[in-house]
Amino acid sequence: MDAGRVDPAYRRDRRRLIEGLQARGIEDLAILHAFDVIPRHMFVPDAVRHRSYDDVALPLGHGQTISRPGAHALHLELADLSGKENVLEIGTGSGYQTALLSQLAAHVYSVETVQQLADLAADRLRDLGIENVTTRAGDGSAGWPEHAPYDVILCGAAAPRVPQPLVEQLGPGGRLVIPVGDNSRQRLVRVFLLADGTLREETVDSARFVPLKGEEGW
Ligand code: SAH
Repeated sequence: MDAGRVDPAYRRDRRRLIEGLQARGIEDLAILHAFDVIPRHMFVPDAVRHRSYDDVALPLGHGQTISRPGAHALHLELADLSGKENVLEIGTGSGYQTALLSQLAAHVYSVETVQQLADLAADRLRDLGIENVTTRAGDGSAGWPEHAPYDVILCGAAAPRVPQPLVEQLGPGGRLVIPVGDNSRQRLVRVFLLADGTLREETVDSARFVPLKGEEGW
């Protein structure tokens, strides 16, 4: 990625965002660095660009939203990335979380059900010179079996239950982070596939995400 193309005008805003994330307990320096390197203002529509570095969700059109940076940071912490991982992301949306992941993992596969969002995200990632990401338009609720197993699967939309096909695409030691619930009540779930093949599921937080559509969705 060519960091020279990052708009310096927003540097101070990005700093403020990063200090806010730190104040709220995000300590992983690699994650904070990714927030510094990836220009969030390039992933939001013009009309809301002035709010790019506020810790708020913003509308993307098509009834979808780019999540709050704080939510992205939490998901990244839960993913516990070292840089070597094969990652699947469900719900590319703007592509912002995809870009953050590209800085923290070896390869990212990302699926988005809304064709226009998928196209726009792919263009942005290419314009930024990000090369370790593969995107696809379509239903990702049952994963992307061709590139499994994954060390990490992150889902940015809330499912009715933990989709079994996603669990089956985890490798040993892998983790799946997914919001589960409906519009009124959601919890953020992390599922581990332990090295001995057993599963451990924990509820990490409450959550508020758009619904997961498709075969394993609502
Ligand atoms: N993290 C994203 C925001 C995700 S919003 C960002 O940074 O912008 C959740 C996204 O999941 C939406 O764009 C929605 O269209 C998409 N989505 C919902 N159901 C899906 C499915 N079954 N497969 C792939 N994407 C899906």
